[in-house]
Amino acid sequence: MTTDGPGAGTDGSSAGTSGPDAGIDGSGSALALCVLAPNPSPMTLDGTNTWLIAAPDSTVALVVDPGPDDEGHLRRVVQQAGQAGRRIAQILLTHGHDDHSAGARRLADLTGAPVRAADPAHRLGAEGLGDGDVIEAAGSELRVIGTPGHSRDSLSLLLPEDGALLTGDTVLGRGTTVIAGGDGSLTDYLRSLDAMKSLSDQGLLRVLLPGHGPVLPDPAAVLEYYIAHRAERLDQVRAALAAGDRTPAEIVTRVYTEITPAVRPAAELSVQAQLDYLASRGELPPSA
Ligand SMILES: [Zn+2]
Repeated sequence: MTTDGPGAGTDGSSAGTSGPDAGIDGSGSALALCVLAPNPSPMTLDGTNTWLIAAPDSTVALVVDPGPDDEGHLRRVVQQAGQAGRRIAQILLTHGHDDHSAGARRLADLTGAPVRAADPAHRLGAEGLGDGDVIEAAGSELRVIGTPGHSRDSLSLLLPEDGALLTGDTVLGRGTTVIAGGDGSLTDYLRSLDAMKSLSDQGLLRVLLPGHGPVLPDPAAVLEYYIAHRAERLDQVRAALAAGDRTPAEIVTRVYTEITPAVRPAAELSVQAQLDYLASRGELPPSA
């Protein structure tokens, strides 16, 4: 499903959006190159990172997350591949939120490439994308890791050769992510963070390539921070409930003291996801 809420963003907890970082465009790993889309906002940080994946001697490339339906951006993606002598053979989506997927149909028109996604509504062509899939193309291997939580259809893509994990909105380059209203789940999200941490513990990760924000060269530290941050937030929500707060708005006012208005709706969704999580564990007070 396409998003009816924020595609990505911070939950207002940390530094949040600092100025644009031109360094993201053109960054990446040996096999992955970032083409930054021109859609910066408090919810998308510097914009959406579109990733071009190809081995150095490959004549084809894969695209992960075409980004918004922005003609200039999509043409630049095609051009960057073309300049390296490559045609785009497949388009993959980390999830269906508009800021990642809206340009997929147009990019497919421009390239003839199929679109593969976990959610059938976002596919063009016969092939889906799911946990355990291995894509061998563009001279490299991509392994699909199901990482639901930010949204039900969220997945991450591991480039084993590079030790690189494309995280979509599950882990962002700055701040922390939100659990999307409606189809996100904190229970799933915590499990997904643990799965990523386990890849890191096995020594398989050297860098995280997020859907927004800069490349993260220390995956273990980032994942530990995300896991600790979630535990801390849950404790704060428990404390707010104990103090008598009941609605997400009340809890946000108490817990997110330095929040800016632009990210407040996302913070309320995030608190609602935490309330749902606590409810599923029987931890909500009877009147909540
Ligand atoms: Zn998203």
